[in-house]
Amino acid sequence: MEFVSGKKAADTCDLEHIVEEYRAKKLANGAKVSFTGFVYNVRIKKNFSFVVIRNHKRLFQCFFSPENCRFNIESLREESAVKITGTVVADSPCKINPGFEVSITKIEVLSAPPAAQPFPIYKAADWSDEVLFDNRALTLRNTRHRAIIKISSGVLTGFRDFMIAEGFTEFVPPSIVEGGAEGGADMFSVDYFGKPAFLTQSPQQYKQLMVGVFTKVFCVSPVFRAEKHSTSRHINEFAGLDLEMGFIKGLDDLLRLETRMMSYIFNFLRADYADELAELGVELAEIKQIPKIKFAEVKQLIKAEYNRPYRDEHDFEPEEEKLIGKYFKEKHNSDFVFITHYPSAKRPFYTLDDPQNPEYTLSFDLLLNGTEITTGGMRIHDYHAQTDKMRARGLNPDHFTDYLAMHRAGLPPHGGMGIGLERLVMRLLRLDNIKHAAAFPRDRDRLKP
Ligand code: ATP
Repeated sequence: MEFVSGKKAADTCDLEHIVEEYRAKKLANGAKVSFTGFVYNVRIKKNFSFVVIRNHKRLFQCFFSPENCRFNIESLREESAVKITGTVVADSPCKINPGFEVSITKIEVLSAPPAAQPFPIYKAADWSDEVLFDNRALTLRNTRHRAIIKISSGVLTGFRDFMIAEGFTEFVPPSIVEGGAEGGADMFSVDYFGKPAFLTQSPQQYKQLMVGVFTKVFCVSPVFRAEKHSTSRHINEFAGLDLEMGFIKGLDDLLRLETRMMSYIFNFLRADYADELAELGVELAEIKQIPKIKFAEVKQLIKAEYNRPYRDEHDFEPEEEKLIGKYFKEKHNSDFVFITHYPSAKRPFYTLDDPQNPEYTLSFDLLLNGTEITTGGMRIHDYHAQTDKMRARGLNPDHFTDYLAMHRAGLPPHGGMGIGLERLVMRLLRLDNIKHAAAFPRDRDRLKP
Protein backbone atom coordinates (compact mmCIF):
# COMPACT_ATOMS: atom_id res chain seq x y z
CA MET A 1 0.00 0.00 0.00
CA GLU A 2 1.09 3.56 -0.65
CA PHE A 3 -0.19 7.03 0.35
CA VAL A 4 -1.12 9.87 -1.97
CA SER A 5 0.06 13.21 -0.56
CA GLY A 6 -1.65 15.73 -2.86
CA LYS A 7 1.61 17.62 -3.26
CA LYS A 8 1.58 19.61 -6.49
CA ALA A 9 4.44 18.95 -8.88
CA ALA A 10 5.70 21.95 -10.87
CA ASP A 11 4.46 21.75 -14.46
CA THR A 12 7.57 22.64 -16.40
CA CYS A 13 5.76 21.95 -19.70
CA ASP A 14 3.25 24.73 -19.06
CA LEU A 15 3.72 27.52 -21.59
CA GLU A 16 2.44 30.02 -18.99
CA HIS A 17 5.30 29.05 -16.68
CA ILE A 18 7.76 29.70 -19.54
CA VAL A 19 6.13 33.08 -20.29
CA GLU A 20 6.49 34.06 -16.61
CA GLU A 21 10.14 33.00 -16.59
CA TYR A 22 10.83 35.00 -19.75
CA ARG A 23 9.13 38.09 -18.33
CA ALA A 24 11.15 37.69 -15.12
CA LYS A 25 14.27 37.68 -17.34
CA LYS A 26 15.12 34.13 -16.25
CA LEU A 27 15.16 32.85 -19.85
CA ALA A 28 17.69 34.35 -22.23
CA ASN A 29 18.02 34.04 -25.98
CA GLY A 30 18.86 30.43 -26.90
CA ALA A 31 17.46 28.87 -23.68
CA LYS A 32 15.95 25.43 -24.20
CA VAL A 33 12.23 25.03 -23.39
CA SER A 34 9.49 22.40 -23.78
CA PHE A 35 5.75 22.92 -23.56
CA THR A 36 2.49 21.22 -24.52
CA GLY A 37 -0.53 22.51 -26.41
CA PHE A 38 -2.76 22.10 -29.44
CA VAL A 39 -1.74 22.84 -33.02
CA TYR A 40 -3.98 25.80 -33.89
CA ASN A 41 -2.62 26.61 -37.30
CA VAL A 42 0.33 25.58 -39.51
CA ARG A 43 1.46 28.06 -42.16
CA ILE A 44 3.83 26.36 -44.54
CA LYS A 45 6.19 28.65 -46.49
CA LYS A 46 8.86 27.72 -49.01
CA ASN A 47 11.81 27.15 -46.66
CA PHE A 48 10.23 27.34 -43.23
CA SER A 49 6.84 27.20 -41.47
CA PHE A 50 5.00 28.89 -38.64
CA VAL A 51 3.32 26.59 -36.16
CA VAL A 52 0.80 28.35 -33.91
CA ILE A 53 0.18 26.52 -30.64
CA ARG A 54 -2.88 27.10 -28.47
CA ASN A 55 -2.85 26.50 -24.73
CA HIS A 56 -5.67 27.26 -22.29
CA LYS A 57 -4.91 30.97 -22.38
CA ARG A 58 -3.12 32.13 -25.50
CA LEU A 59 -1.85 31.51 -29.01
CA PHE A 60 1.89 31.22 -29.40
CA GLN A 61 3.71 31.28 -32.72
CA CYS A 62 6.74 29.00 -33.16
CA PHE A 63 9.26 28.93 -35.97
CA PHE A 64 9.88 25.64 -37.78
CA SER A 65 12.71 24.99 -40.16
CA PRO A 66 13.67 21.51 -41.47
CA GLU A 67 17.32 22.36 -40.72
CA ASN A 68 16.62 22.53 -36.97
CA CYS A 69 13.98 19.85 -36.63
CA ARG A 70 13.51 16.54 -38.38
CA PHE A 71 9.73 16.33 -38.81
CA ASN A 72 7.40 16.07 -41.80
CA ILE A 73 5.58 19.34 -41.17
CA GLU A 74 2.95 18.60 -43.82
CA SER A 75 1.79 15.64 -41.74
CA LEU A 76 1.06 17.81 -38.68
CA ARG A 77 -2.73 17.95 -38.29
CA GLU A 78 -4.45 20.95 -36.78
CA GLU A 79 -5.76 20.23 -33.27
CA SER A 80 -3.14 17.56 -32.63
CA ALA A 81 -2.00 17.58 -28.99
CA VAL A 82 1.76 18.10 -29.11
CA LYS A 83 4.86 18.65 -27.04
CA ILE A 84 7.16 21.24 -28.57
CA THR A 85 10.81 21.53 -27.67
CA GLY A 86 12.90 24.40 -28.93
CA THR A 87 15.06 27.41 -28.19
CA VAL A 88 13.96 30.84 -27.09
CA VAL A 89 14.24 33.59 -29.71
CA ALA A 90 14.14 36.77 -27.63
CA ASP A 91 12.54 40.08 -28.63
CA SER A 92 10.25 38.68 -31.31
CA PRO A 93 8.05 41.27 -33.03
CA CYS A 94 5.26 38.68 -33.53
CA LYS A 95 2.08 40.42 -32.32
CA ILE A 96 0.38 37.41 -30.80
CA ASN A 97 3.46 36.35 -28.80
CA PRO A 98 4.46 37.70 -25.39
CA GLY A 99 7.79 39.13 -26.59
CA PHE A 100 9.56 35.96 -27.67
CA GLU A 101 9.25 33.07 -30.09
CA VAL A 102 10.49 29.49 -29.99
CA SER A 103 12.52 27.93 -32.74
CA ILE A 104 11.42 24.30 -32.82
CA THR A 105 13.93 21.49 -32.43
CA LYS A 106 11.49 18.66 -31.70
CA ILE A 107 7.79 17.98 -32.20
CA GLU A 108 6.22 15.05 -30.33
CA VAL A 109 2.63 14.27 -31.32
CA LEU A 110 0.92 13.12 -28.11
CA SER A 111 -2.40 12.54 -29.88
CA ALA A 112 -3.61 13.29 -33.39
CA PRO A 113 -7.23 13.63 -34.58
CA PRO A 114 -8.22 10.74 -36.85
CA ALA A 115 -8.73 13.03 -39.87
CA ALA A 116 -8.18 16.63 -40.91
CA GLN A 117 -10.70 19.09 -39.37
CA PRO A 118 -13.77 19.83 -41.52
CA PHE A 119 -12.95 23.56 -41.46
CA PRO A 120 -10.19 25.77 -40.04
CA ILE A 121 -11.15 26.77 -36.50
CA TYR A 122 -9.42 30.15 -36.67
CA LYS A 123 -11.80 31.43 -39.36
CA ALA A 124 -14.83 32.15 -37.19
CA ALA A 125 -16.04 34.98 -39.40
CA ASP A 126 -17.08 32.41 -42.03
CA TRP A 127 -19.43 30.46 -39.75
CA SER A 128 -23.21 30.53 -39.74
CA ASP A 129 -24.90 30.01 -36.36
CA GLU A 130 -25.71 26.48 -37.45
CA VAL A 131 -22.05 25.65 -38.06
CA LEU A 132 -21.09 27.44 -34.86
CA PHE A 133 -23.48 25.50 -32.62
CA ASP A 134 -23.49 22.14 -34.44
CA ASN A 135 -19.71 21.89 -34.03
CA ARG A 136 -19.10 23.05 -30.45
CA ALA A 137 -16.27 20.53 -29.91
CA LEU A 138 -14.36 22.56 -32.48
CA THR A 139 -15.81 26.05 -32.56
CA LEU A 140 -15.41 26.67 -28.81
CA ARG A 141 -11.66 26.28 -29.40
CA ASN A 142 -11.71 29.40 -31.54
CA THR A 143 -10.10 32.21 -29.53
CA ARG A 144 -13.06 34.58 -29.92
CA HIS A 145 -15.69 32.06 -28.93
CA ARG A 146 -13.73 30.73 -26.02
CA ALA A 147 -13.09 34.30 -24.81
CA ILE A 148 -16.87 34.75 -24.50
CA ILE A 149 -17.15 31.65 -22.33
CA LYS A 150 -14.11 32.76 -20.32
CA ILE A 151 -15.83 36.09 -19.62
CA SER A 152 -18.91 34.17 -18.56
CA SER A 153 -16.71 32.20 -16.16
CA GLY A 154 -15.30 35.53 -14.89
CA VAL A 155 -18.82 36.85 -14.25
CA LEU A 156 -19.64 33.70 -12.25
CA THR A 157 -16.45 33.98 -10.21
CA GLY A 158 -16.98 37.70 -9.65
CA PHE A 159 -20.59 37.11 -8.60
CA ARG A 160 -19.66 34.34 -6.15
CA ASP A 161 -16.71 36.26 -4.67
CA PHE A 162 -18.87 39.34 -4.20
CA MET A 163 -21.73 37.44 -2.60
CA ILE A 164 -19.44 35.62 -0.17
CA ALA A 165 -17.69 38.90 0.73
CA GLU A 166 -21.13 40.44 1.46
CA GLY A 167 -21.91 37.63 3.91
CA PHE A 168 -24.26 35.55 1.74
CA THR A 169 -24.47 31.75 1.96
CA GLU A 170 -24.64 29.68 -1.24
CA PHE A 171 -27.05 26.78 -1.52
CA VAL A 172 -28.18 24.45 -4.29
CA PRO A 173 -31.88 24.50 -5.19
CA PRO A 174 -33.52 21.49 -6.87
CA SER A 175 -34.05 21.42 -10.64
CA ILE A 176 -36.91 18.90 -10.60
CA VAL A 177 -39.99 20.26 -8.86
CA GLU A 178 -43.64 19.51 -8.30
CA GLY A 179 -44.97 22.89 -9.45
CA GLY A 180 -43.89 26.38 -10.47
CA ALA A 181 -43.28 29.64 -8.61
CA GLU A 182 -45.22 31.54 -11.22
CA GLY A 183 -48.11 29.07 -11.29
CA GLY A 184 -46.79 26.37 -13.65
CA ALA A 185 -47.00 28.12 -17.04
CA ASP A 186 -44.10 27.75 -19.48
CA MET A 187 -42.59 24.73 -17.69
CA PHE A 188 -41.11 21.56 -19.16
CA SER A 189 -42.78 18.49 -17.75
CA VAL A 190 -40.88 15.34 -16.87
CA ASP A 191 -41.94 11.90 -15.80
CA TYR A 192 -40.80 11.40 -12.22
CA PHE A 193 -41.22 7.70 -11.41
CA GLY A 194 -44.65 7.76 -12.99
CA LYS A 195 -45.68 11.06 -11.34
CA PRO A 196 -45.86 14.36 -13.23
CA ALA A 197 -43.05 16.78 -12.38
CA PHE A 198 -41.43 19.86 -13.92
CA LEU A 199 -38.02 21.39 -14.58
CA THR A 200 -37.70 24.45 -12.40
CA GLN A 201 -38.62 27.82 -13.83
CA SER A 202 -37.07 29.76 -10.94
CA PRO A 203 -35.48 29.01 -7.54
CA GLN A 204 -37.83 31.64 -6.02
CA GLN A 205 -39.51 29.46 -3.41
CA TYR A 206 -36.24 27.93 -2.22
CA LYS A 207 -34.31 31.16 -1.89
CA GLN A 208 -37.14 32.79 0.06
CA LEU A 209 -37.31 29.73 2.32
CA MET A 210 -33.54 29.92 2.89
CA VAL A 211 -33.87 33.55 4.10
CA GLY A 212 -35.45 32.01 7.20
CA VAL A 213 -32.31 29.89 7.61
CA PHE A 214 -29.32 32.07 6.65
CA THR A 215 -30.89 35.56 6.13
CA LYS A 216 -28.67 36.30 3.09
CA VAL A 217 -28.53 33.56 0.46
CA PHE A 218 -27.61 33.06 -3.16
CA CYS A 219 -27.53 30.31 -5.74
CA VAL A 220 -26.30 29.73 -9.27
CA SER A 221 -28.60 27.23 -10.93
CA PRO A 222 -30.09 26.16 -14.26
CA VAL A 223 -33.46 27.72 -15.03
CA PHE A 224 -35.78 26.23 -17.64
CA ARG A 225 -38.37 28.14 -19.64
CA ALA A 226 -40.63 26.33 -22.11
CA GLU A 227 -41.33 29.62 -23.90
CA LYS A 228 -42.07 28.99 -27.55
CA HIS A 229 -41.00 32.38 -28.89
CA SER A 230 -37.62 32.72 -30.56
CA THR A 231 -36.00 36.09 -29.90
CA SER A 232 -32.38 37.16 -29.76
CA ARG A 233 -32.60 37.45 -25.93
CA HIS A 234 -34.36 34.25 -24.85
CA ILE A 235 -33.06 30.71 -24.57
CA ASN A 236 -34.90 27.77 -23.05
CA GLU A 237 -32.30 26.95 -20.43
CA PHE A 238 -30.18 29.61 -18.78
CA ALA A 239 -28.02 30.03 -15.70
CA GLY A 240 -29.80 32.03 -13.01
CA LEU A 241 -27.73 34.09 -10.58
CA ASP A 242 -30.21 34.45 -7.77
CA LEU A 243 -30.06 36.04 -4.36
CA GLU A 244 -32.39 36.88 -1.53
CA MET A 245 -31.78 38.92 1.63
CA GLY A 246 -33.73 39.35 4.84
CA PHE A 247 -34.17 42.21 7.33
CA ILE A 248 -33.84 44.88 4.65
CA LYS A 249 -35.49 48.27 4.96
CA GLY A 250 -36.63 48.64 1.39
CA LEU A 251 -36.04 48.47 -2.33
CA ASP A 252 -33.01 50.75 -2.20
CA ASP A 253 -31.07 48.13 -0.21
CA LEU A 254 -31.41 45.83 -3.23
CA LEU A 255 -30.52 48.54 -5.75
CA ARG A 256 -27.43 49.52 -3.77
CA LEU A 257 -26.37 45.88 -3.50
CA GLU A 258 -26.68 45.34 -7.24
CA THR A 259 -24.82 48.58 -8.02
CA ARG A 260 -21.94 47.40 -5.82
CA MET A 261 -22.12 43.95 -7.42
CA MET A 262 -21.96 45.22 -11.01
CA SER A 263 -19.15 47.59 -10.08
CA TYR A 264 -17.26 44.69 -8.46
CA ILE A 265 -17.79 42.32 -11.41
CA PHE A 266 -16.78 44.96 -13.99
CA ASN A 267 -13.62 45.87 -12.03
CA PHE A 268 -12.79 42.20 -11.63
CA LEU A 269 -13.18 41.55 -15.36
CA ARG A 270 -11.12 44.60 -16.26
CA ALA A 271 -8.30 43.46 -13.97
CA ASP A 272 -8.26 39.69 -14.52
CA TYR A 273 -9.83 39.22 -17.96
CA ALA A 274 -8.15 42.02 -19.90
CA ASP A 275 -6.87 39.64 -22.60
CA GLU A 276 -10.34 38.23 -23.29
CA LEU A 277 -11.92 41.71 -23.32
CA ALA A 278 -9.23 42.85 -25.78
CA GLU A 279 -9.83 39.78 -27.96
CA LEU A 280 -13.51 40.74 -28.09
CA GLY A 281 -12.79 44.45 -28.55
CA VAL A 282 -14.77 45.42 -25.44
CA GLU A 283 -13.96 48.17 -22.96
CA LEU A 284 -15.83 48.17 -19.69
CA ALA A 285 -16.57 51.49 -18.06
CA GLU A 286 -16.17 51.99 -14.33
CA ILE A 287 -19.50 51.94 -12.51
CA LYS A 288 -19.86 54.44 -9.69
CA GLN A 289 -23.61 54.94 -9.68
CA ILE A 290 -26.67 53.84 -11.65
CA PRO A 291 -29.68 56.05 -12.40
CA LYS A 292 -33.08 54.87 -11.17
CA ILE A 293 -36.49 55.91 -12.40
CA LYS A 294 -40.06 54.73 -11.83
CA PHE A 295 -41.81 52.65 -14.49
CA ALA A 296 -44.68 55.10 -15.02
CA GLU A 297 -42.28 58.04 -15.22
CA VAL A 298 -39.95 56.48 -17.78
CA LYS A 299 -42.92 55.42 -19.94
CA GLN A 300 -43.99 59.06 -20.24
CA LEU A 301 -40.43 60.26 -20.66
CA ILE A 302 -39.69 57.96 -23.60
CA LYS A 303 -43.03 58.70 -25.21
CA ALA A 304 -42.35 62.44 -25.03
CA GLU A 305 -38.65 62.30 -25.88
CA TYR A 306 -38.97 60.08 -28.95
CA ASN A 307 -42.54 60.92 -29.91
CA ARG A 308 -43.41 57.24 -29.72
CA PRO A 309 -46.84 56.29 -28.34
CA TYR A 310 -46.84 52.97 -26.49
CA ARG A 311 -49.37 50.14 -26.81
CA ASP A 312 -48.81 48.23 -23.57
CA GLU A 313 -49.23 50.39 -20.49
CA HIS A 314 -48.20 47.58 -18.10
CA ASP A 315 -44.96 46.50 -19.71
CA PHE A 316 -42.18 47.61 -22.04
CA GLU A 317 -41.96 46.65 -25.67
CA PRO A 318 -38.40 45.66 -26.67
CA GLU A 319 -38.16 48.83 -28.78
CA GLU A 320 -39.03 50.93 -25.72
CA GLU A 321 -36.30 49.22 -23.69
CA LYS A 322 -33.81 50.07 -26.43
CA LEU A 323 -34.89 53.72 -26.35
CA ILE A 324 -34.57 53.79 -22.56
CA GLY A 325 -31.02 52.46 -22.97
CA LYS A 326 -30.29 55.13 -25.58
CA TYR A 327 -31.75 57.92 -23.44
CA PHE A 328 -29.75 57.08 -20.33
CA LYS A 329 -26.57 56.62 -22.33
CA GLU A 330 -26.95 59.95 -24.09
CA LYS A 331 -28.25 62.04 -21.18
CA HIS A 332 -26.49 60.42 -18.23
CA ASN A 333 -23.63 58.49 -19.83
CA SER A 334 -24.85 55.32 -18.15
CA ASP A 335 -25.07 51.87 -19.76
CA PHE A 336 -27.25 50.79 -16.84
CA VAL A 337 -30.60 52.01 -15.55
CA PHE A 338 -32.87 50.74 -12.76
CA ILE A 339 -36.58 50.86 -13.52
CA THR A 340 -38.63 50.59 -10.33
CA HIS A 341 -42.29 50.29 -9.29
CA TYR A 342 -43.68 48.02 -12.01
CA PRO A 343 -47.47 47.64 -12.16
CA SER A 344 -48.78 45.06 -9.71
CA ALA A 345 -50.75 43.39 -12.51
CA LYS A 346 -47.50 42.42 -14.26
CA ARG A 347 -45.57 41.09 -11.30
CA PRO A 348 -45.86 37.66 -9.64
CA PHE A 349 -48.11 37.06 -6.63
CA TYR A 350 -45.23 37.15 -4.16
CA THR A 351 -44.23 40.75 -5.02
CA LEU A 352 -44.88 43.35 -2.31
CA ASP A 353 -47.20 46.15 -3.40
CA ASP A 354 -46.15 49.74 -2.76
CA PRO A 355 -48.08 50.83 0.36
CA GLN A 356 -48.17 54.40 -1.09
CA ASN A 357 -49.86 53.16 -4.27
CA PRO A 358 -50.85 49.46 -4.37
CA GLU A 359 -51.35 49.53 -8.14
CA TYR A 360 -47.57 49.46 -8.30
CA THR A 361 -45.03 47.17 -6.66
CA LEU A 362 -41.77 47.58 -4.78
CA SER A 363 -40.00 45.89 -7.64
CA PHE A 364 -37.35 46.68 -10.22
CA ASP A 365 -35.58 45.64 -13.38
CA LEU A 366 -32.00 46.51 -14.25
CA LEU A 367 -31.41 47.31 -17.91
CA LEU A 368 -27.97 47.11 -19.50
CA ASN A 369 -27.53 48.69 -22.93
CA GLY A 370 -31.29 48.67 -23.45
CA THR A 371 -32.08 45.09 -22.39
CA GLU A 372 -33.36 43.72 -19.08
CA ILE A 373 -30.71 41.70 -17.28
CA THR A 374 -32.24 41.54 -13.78
CA THR A 375 -35.66 41.34 -12.19
CA GLY A 376 -36.05 41.84 -8.47
CA GLY A 377 -38.06 43.31 -5.68
CA MET A 378 -39.40 43.15 -2.17
CA ARG A 379 -41.43 40.02 -1.38
CA ILE A 380 -44.51 39.58 0.79
CA HIS A 381 -43.31 38.24 4.14
CA ASP A 382 -46.56 38.23 6.09
CA TYR A 383 -48.67 35.06 5.82
CA HIS A 384 -52.05 36.85 5.77
CA ALA A 385 -50.91 39.50 3.31
CA GLN A 386 -49.67 36.71 1.00
CA THR A 387 -52.86 34.62 1.18
CA ASP A 388 -54.98 37.78 0.68
CA LYS A 389 -53.04 38.68 -2.47
CA MET A 390 -53.40 35.15 -3.77
CA ARG A 391 -57.16 35.27 -3.27
CA ALA A 392 -57.38 38.70 -4.89
CA ARG A 393 -55.71 37.13 -7.94
CA GLY A 394 -58.13 34.23 -8.03
CA LEU A 395 -55.52 31.79 -6.65
CA ASN A 396 -56.46 29.32 -3.95
CA PRO A 397 -53.94 29.43 -1.07
CA ASP A 398 -54.73 25.75 -0.38
CA HIS A 399 -52.90 24.97 -3.63
CA PHE A 400 -49.79 26.72 -2.28
CA THR A 401 -49.39 25.02 1.09
CA ASP A 402 -45.81 24.03 0.28
CA TYR A 403 -44.89 27.58 -0.77
CA LEU A 404 -46.64 29.08 2.26
CA ALA A 405 -44.82 26.80 4.72
CA MET A 406 -42.08 29.43 5.10
CA HIS A 407 -44.61 32.18 5.82
CA ARG A 408 -46.20 29.96 8.47
CA ALA A 409 -42.74 29.34 9.90
CA GLY A 410 -42.19 33.14 9.95
CA LEU A 411 -40.21 35.33 7.56
CA PRO A 412 -38.51 38.73 8.00
CA PRO A 413 -39.08 41.59 5.54
CA HIS A 414 -37.00 40.52 2.57
CA GLY A 415 -36.32 40.89 -1.11
CA GLY A 416 -34.05 39.63 -3.82
CA MET A 417 -33.31 39.40 -7.50
CA GLY A 418 -32.56 37.08 -10.40
CA ILE A 419 -29.95 37.83 -13.03
CA GLY A 420 -29.64 35.83 -16.24
CA LEU A 421 -25.96 34.99 -16.75
CA GLU A 422 -26.16 34.74 -20.54
CA ARG A 423 -28.25 37.94 -20.74
CA LEU A 424 -25.65 39.82 -18.71
CA VAL A 425 -22.74 38.44 -20.77
CA MET A 426 -24.60 39.13 -24.02
CA ARG A 427 -25.19 42.76 -23.10
CA LEU A 428 -21.82 43.51 -21.59
CA LEU A 429 -20.05 42.09 -24.65
CA ARG A 430 -22.69 43.62 -26.95
CA LEU A 431 -23.35 40.31 -28.72
CA ASP A 432 -26.21 40.20 -31.24
CA ASN A 433 -27.75 37.03 -29.90
CA ILE A 434 -27.90 35.52 -26.40
CA LYS A 435 -27.07 32.11 -27.86
CA HIS A 436 -23.53 33.32 -28.51
CA ALA A 437 -23.14 33.85 -24.75
CA ALA A 438 -23.98 30.20 -23.96
CA ALA A 439 -21.50 27.36 -24.43
CA PHE A 440 -24.31 24.93 -25.27
CA PRO A 441 -27.45 26.94 -26.03
CA ARG A 442 -30.88 25.38 -25.91
CA ASP A 443 -33.56 26.86 -28.15
CA ARG A 444 -36.75 25.47 -29.63
CA ASP A 445 -34.84 23.59 -32.29
CA ARG A 446 -31.58 22.81 -30.55
CA LEU A 447 -31.11 20.02 -28.06
CA LYS A 448 -27.52 19.11 -28.86
CA PRO A 449 -24.62 19.01 -28.43
P1 ATP B 1 -38.16 38.72 -20.07
O1 ATP B 1 -39.16 39.78 -19.73
O2 ATP B 1 -36.91 39.25 -20.71
O3 ATP B 1 -38.76 37.55 -20.82
P2 ATP B 1 -38.61 37.72 -17.44
O4 ATP B 1 -39.28 38.93 -16.90
O5 ATP B 1 -39.42 36.52 -17.77
O6 ATP B 1 -37.67 38.12 -18.69
P3 ATP B 1 -37.52 36.79 -15.00
O7 ATP B 1 -38.40 35.60 -14.96
O8 ATP B 1 -37.83 37.87 -14.08
O9 ATP B 1 -37.43 37.34 -16.46
O10 ATP B 1 -36.02 36.29 -14.88
C1 ATP B 1 -34.97 37.07 -14.32
C2 ATP B 1 -33.84 37.25 -15.31
O11 ATP B 1 -33.55 36.02 -15.95
C3 ATP B 1 -34.14 38.18 -16.46
O12 ATP B 1 -33.90 39.50 -16.10
C4 ATP B 1 -33.16 37.72 -17.52
O13 ATP B 1 -31.86 38.19 -17.24
C5 ATP B 1 -33.14 36.23 -17.29
N1 ATP B 1 -34.05 35.52 -18.21
C6 ATP B 1 -35.39 35.37 -18.10
N2 ATP B 1 -35.89 34.64 -19.10
C7 ATP B 1 -34.85 34.28 -19.87
C8 ATP B 1 -34.70 33.50 -21.05
N3 ATP B 1 -35.75 32.89 -21.62
N4 ATP B 1 -33.46 33.35 -21.55
C9 ATP B 1 -32.39 33.91 -20.96
N5 ATP B 1 -32.45 34.65 -19.85
C10 ATP B 1 -33.65 34.84 -19.30
